[in-house]
Formats: sequence, structure tokens, C-alpha cells
Amino acid sequence: MKRKEMISKLKVTPNTYDFIIIGGGATGIGIALEASARGYSVALLEKSDFTKSTSSKATKLVHGGVRYLAQGNIGLVREAVVERGLLLKNAPHITKTQSFVIPTHGLYDEILYTIGLTFYDLLAGRLSLGRSKRLSKTKTLERISLINPDKISAGVLYYDGQFDDSRLAVNTLQSAVELGAVVANYCAVEGLLKDANGKITGVKAFDEEGKESFEIKGKQVVNATGVFADDVLQM
Ligand SMILES: Cc1cc2nc3c(=O)[nH]c(=O)nc-3n(C[C@H](O)[C@H](O)[C@H](O)COP(=O)(O)OP(=O)(O)OC[C@H]3O[C@@H](n4cnc5c(N)ncnc54)[C@H](O)[C@@H]3O)c2cc1C
Repeated sequence: MKRKEMISKLKVTPNTYDFIIIGGGATGIGIALEASARGYSVALLEKSDFTKSTSSKATKLVHGGVRYLAQGNIGLVREAVVERGLLLKNAPHITKTQSFVIPTHGLYDEILYTIGLTFYDLLAGRLSLGRSKRLSKTKTLERISLINPDKISAGVLYYDGQFDDSRLAVNTLQSAVELGAVVANYCAVEGLLKDANGKITGVKAFDEEGKESFEIKGKQVVNATGVFADDVLQM
């Protein structure tokens, strides 16, 4: 469906959506797909282009969160490595396995990182991307040629995922649209509609192309802008 048709659809009254999502980055698009797949009616509004903000500027890693493991948050890491594996299985055209080498500085480092990263890999179970292992100093230098040989003792190899973040978001958006979501870019939310009790009942949107404001009613308004709720409420 073309943008113009989406905008016309959004303007049709009465147009009460189950969810109005503000922001078309990874978060908003993900919510749009989840809600549409569960049969809810969804309107998603993005003030710029989809995923143009933070969602196109990441390191593009589908990681399980090694640092969360260091913090002892095993449940979170288990969930993340399983999701990582599923993403690599479901979207092979925009994901790949990426190897990493952590140089070590002494025996303590070698033991710590070998055990830690082996555990990280084991948490993925059948969705493992490859075995973590200790590398000799020579093998580490073969892989990281610019590192100062006098400063390292060896290295530890492990695997994570890498993905095309913008393309994944656009593919996800396409799936949401196929399931009935109405989405529009260059359509900023410039205010919230409220009833006499102050309950949010919808949004006031501005169509950048048509240079026109219009209202959309919704049962739930979801802030997926990355901006704190208070700032959004002041719009
Ligand atoms: C340097 C860096 C590296 C990162 N590396 C990784 C990584 O390797 N792997 C990973 O998984 N994550 C990574 N992240 C995190 C990831 O990028 C973010 O978690 C994710 O992009 C957040 O998406 P979002 O949709 O919440 O925010 P955004 O992408 O910022 O989307 C918010 C959207 O809301 C829109 N918006 C704002 N106000 C309005 C309004 N009034 N009306 C309509 N629309 C509005 C904006 O235009 C924007 O498009 C990284 C982040 C950074 C900064």
C-alpha cells in the first residue's frame, strides 16, 4: 500500500485503533508486528523516515550480551542468545555469524575469558554459533595483526551475530503491514488527545507531505520514541 493510501486510511473517521504507536524505529516497528500478529488494529506514525534515527546507527550486532553475563544476569543472556539464534535462522539473508577475539593479558585473563565465553556459548544450546576457545599467542596475532605482541599473552575466540539493522526493520514493517497495520513516515505526532478526565484517547498528527494536521483515536497510545514519557506528554 502506498503512503498516500495509508494517510487516507488514517484520516478516515471514526478511526479508533487498538494501538497507536509513536515512532518507527526498531522498538515501534517490533511492537507494530507483535500487536498486528495478535489481531489488534495498529497505526504507526514516524516523524522522519523509518529507522532513520538510532535504529540505523547501531554497531549492528545481534549479541547475547556478554557484559550482562559478567554482571551475573544469566536469565537475560540465555533469552538473548536464544533470540539471536532464532533471528539468524529466520532471517539468513540479512544476518551472519561474526567471530571475535579478545586478547588476554596473563593466565588469569585466559582462564576467566575461556570459561566465561564457553559458558556464554553453552547457554545458546542447539542455537550455538560456534565453540568459544582459547587461542595461542601466535594464532591471536595472526587474527589481530596490528596488536602489540609484547602486551598480550594469548586470546579467546568467540562468536556472536551481525545483522543489517535497517533492512530487518523494513522487513518487519512489511510483515506488520501485511497483517493489517497502517503505517506512515513523515508523519509526526505533535500532541495527545485527552478526555475530560485527562485520559489519553488519541493523537494529533501532522502529515509533512500534505502539510495537514489530523486526529487519530486509539485505545492505547504507545511511546516508542526513546524519549521519556513526560517529554512526550508535553508535546
Ligand atoms: C552507538 C550505538 C550502538 C548500538 N549497537 C547496537 C548493536 O550492536 N546491537 C543492538 O541490538 N543494538 C544496538 N544499539 C541499540 C539500538 O540501536 C537501539 O536500542 C534501538 O535502535 C532503539 O530503537 P528505538 O526504536 O527505541 O529508537 P529510535 O530508532 O531512535 O526510534 C525512535 C523513533 O521515534 C521517532 N519519533 C520521535 N518523536 C516522534 C514524534 N513526535 N512523532 C513520530 N515519531 C517520532 C524518531 O524519528 C525515531 O525514528 C546501539 C545503539 C547505539 C547508540
